[in-house]
Amino acid sequence: MKRRFVRVISSAVAALSVVAVANAPQAAAYNTLGCKWSHSGISFYVPSPYISYPYWSNAAASWGGLDGRILWNTRPADFTGLNESRGNTVSWTGVTRALGTVQSFPPCSGGHWVSGQMEVVLNWTLVSGYSSSKIQGVAAHEIGHAFGLAHNTASTGILMYPYDSRTVSGPASDDKAGVNALY
Ligand SMILES: [Zn+2]
Repeated sequence: MKRRFVRVISSAVAALSVVAVANAPQAAAYNTLGCKWSHSGISFYVPSPYISYPYWSNAAASWGGLDGRILWNTRPADFTGLNESRGNTVSWTGVTRALGTVQSFPPCSGGHWVSGQMEVVLNWTLVSGYSSSKIQGVAAHEIGHAFGLAHNTASTGILMYPYDSRTVSGPASDDKAGVNALY
């Protein structure tokens, strides 16, 4: 189970991630990871020198107005954001992972994530060729994972669609419904 979650959450472009969600019902166009925060005000911090900073900022704002809310640039942080240049050594353009790992799932205790032990990352090598809105879409997608949402392949118009060919740069109504169901 844990290994499957690792694949779902970490492989933005891997075929395995589609296989992992293929058996999930698609009627409600959101899926959940099986872990979430124990509170609805979720603090997120990104150091301002990072080149990814404006994308994380805009992506966090795009998730506003929900029952589960991102408290942007608040410390101590439940999760942090950064960018790395990993070239093609990984398949992901963005990842949500345990702090300091390449792509391991964050620790989950009693159905809740452990504050401070999660980070969201943009692989700058791959996203630097993207448009600004597409980069923001990858960032917002990772924040969706950080809420507790899993991939959903029902439509390219869903933010949690697993590939960067998604047609939205922020949460759609189905994505928001998923977060409101979680918190
Ligand atoms: Zn993803």
